[in-house]
Amino acid sequence: MSDQVRVRFAPSPTGPLHIGGVRTALFNYLFAKQHQGTFILRIEDTDQNRYVPGAEDYIIEALNWCGIPYDEGPGKEAECGPYRQSERKSMYRKYAEQLIASGSAYYAFDTAEELAEARAKAEADKQNFIYNHHNRKEFKNSLSLTEEDVQQRLDSGEPYVVRFKPELKKLYMYDEIREGIEIDTSLMDDKVLFKSDGMPTYHLANVVDDHDMRITHVIRGEEWLPSMALHVLLYESFGWQAPKFAHLPLILKPTGKGKLSKRDGDKMGFSVFPLEWKDPKTGEISRGFREDGFLPEAMVNILAFLGWNPGTEQEIFGLDELVKAFGLDKVNSSGAKYDPEKAEWFQQQWFVQQDDAVIGAAFAKAMQKKGMEYGSQDYVNMVVGMVKERAVFVEDLFELAGFFFVSPSSYDEKNVQKAWKQDTPEIMGKVAEIIAQTEDESAAGLSNAVKGWIKEQEMGFGKVMMPLRLALVGSLMGPDVFEIAAMIGKNESVQRIQNAIHELS
Ligand code: GLU
Repeated sequence: MSDQVRVRFAPSPTGPLHIGGVRTALFNYLFAKQHQGTFILRIEDTDQNRYVPGAEDYIIEALNWCGIPYDEGPGKEAECGPYRQSERKSMYRKYAEQLIASGSAYYAFDTAEELAEARAKAEADKQNFIYNHHNRKEFKNSLSLTEEDVQQRLDSGEPYVVRFKPELKKLYMYDEIREGIEIDTSLMDDKVLFKSDGMPTYHLANVVDDHDMRITHVIRGEEWLPSMALHVLLYESFGWQAPKFAHLPLILKPTGKGKLSKRDGDKMGFSVFPLEWKDPKTGEISRGFREDGFLPEAMVNILAFLGWNPGTEQEIFGLDELVKAFGLDKVNSSGAKYDPEKAEWFQQQWFVQQDDAVIGAAFAKAMQKKGMEYGSQDYVNMVVGMVKERAVFVEDLFELAGFFFVSPSSYDEKNVQKAWKQDTPEIMGKVAEIIAQTEDESAAGLSNAVKGWIKEQEMGFGKVMMPLRLALVGSLMGPDVFEIAAMIGKNESVQRIQNAIHELS
């Protein structure tokens, strides 16, 4: 069976994809690849009122950026297409009619006003309004009206909806993550499946498409768990074999209760979307992981651990490793707290592992954007190799390594007090001379020359090394001071020492 696994990610294009959605896509992708199966993208755009232009492209770009492209979907048509529900519109009616013919659904002609009235009445009696077996005979539908009446209304074009009529029973269902679930179907309402304007509701379209696309496993967010009973009953009514279901745990706020929202991210300074998103109506911009500087590998690793873990100590997983290690049996049923610090930790782990040349290219591009000169790409890559262990994002490199490219324009006040003393200018003048005269310009060569002189003078090392660092870097941080001197070169080093003597004396 393993080569027949077919799963789908079925977002509605109503805005940017929340990271919870990307996590759902990732788990579907991993499951598909692990079973040499097919990962499908289906765009659920039947609700035209909620359609947001650009959202579909955003979803596709986000999946591609994460490195989890779909096998079938919009632009990758295959036998089960089209993959946008709006383009499949004509096929749903016959299924609604099939359910009516078999007695599992019925026409209902109640107007919006009539329903509102019934709801208000129920609420006045302090009762929840529910349209189902206990009261459906009191409404205007094909179960309460005569056949002729119904036919007349249909013939005259009166608007209607098709409602589902759940079979009354104890329904036993199985979720791959939550295991057995039992439901009393008499508590369910008669959900609308189809409207006379020809549009199916989410439930009908979703089930029909999953069947038509031969989906074997429905892996989706916990918010769809309440729909599972209806979907299972629909499969039964159609006489179709239901796919297996797995409902992934919610992603929760870092602190407190409830689902992680954009507001939490705004408040605490992190992103909840994979890519930056500009709202087409308001122009409002929401930040994205990509633009915040996260590597796609880090994004995937962060998402993988939201609700799943391998059951071992290992935390760093690339996509290929995840494909091997993933299993629905290791997905938790309880919500996963989002931890922004842990997310940065994953990013940092991936950042240091990344090739210097890859980070170097990104850093060079960022410098170019700021109009900074950086010499050669090789030089940039070397610099990256020297400092990347201390960085989490490319952006951090400006602070950690800016001095490799530009001479300090100011000196950190506190550091000056600590490092620059009365006799420092004289000492630094001598150090500049030594550096200028040293033939071996390597870090070791410069180090030997300067340290040799310090020993000769029987001087404390700090008296020289601290002001030298201050002169080259502008502060007291950075890698080995002679490595820095060798990188920027003898002439530049001497120049910076002279600048410091001039500025600080
Ligand atoms: N269109 C639904 C959503 O936006 C799909 C739910 C499902 O996967 O069945 O999440």
